[in-house]
Amino acid sequence: MKFPYFKYHPNPLQTSSVSQSDRTCIRCNQARCFIYTGPVYAVDNLSERLCPWCIANGEAAHQFGATFSDPYSLLHHGIAKEIAIEVAERTPGYISWQQEEWLSHCNDACEFHGDATQEDVKNASIETKQQWFLDNNADEAFWQTVTECYMPQGSPAFYKFKCRHCQMILLGWDCA
Ligand SMILES: [Zn+2]
Ligand SMILES: [Zn+2]
Repeated sequence: MKFPYFKYHPNPLQTSSVSQSDRTCIRCNQARCFIYTGPVYAVDNLSERLCPWCIANGEAAHQFGATFSDPYSLLHHGIAKEIAIEVAERTPGYISWQQEEWLSHCNDACEFHGDATQEDVKNASIETKQQWFLDNNADEAFWQTVTECYMPQGSPAFYKFKCRHCQMILLGWDCA
């Protein structure tokens, strides 16, 4: 069966939100060679127990009331509710140090592309940096301080998002 397509998280294998596994999905009772390894917000412990197909078709969210990321930041930025729900309920989430935040641009949620590389951060465009200053109420000096020793998966962490419309790269960040 074809790997599901996630509009807002196009390559969850690459970002490590989905891994190859022989585990059985608790929703469809099938071992489909892939298991979701990102965060799950639900009453039941569903960690590493859902396949990406049951996330894509909304069945995991429907059966367990599960969400995979917090829609708050999208709604707070005026993104349409249907989009925020698609991200929260039918899109693999990602693990961050504290509270993950899904970035948006051009009135839409962005695509998540995992940890930013050192080059992504070092060579961030002026637009990307200006957006980051705006989102974090920060300036160039603060940017220099937090990016100086950046290592993917370290702290601070930088996450790469891409606008689906103007292709701009946005960086989310978090620290331990
Ligand atoms: Zn499943
Ligand atoms: Zn845009």
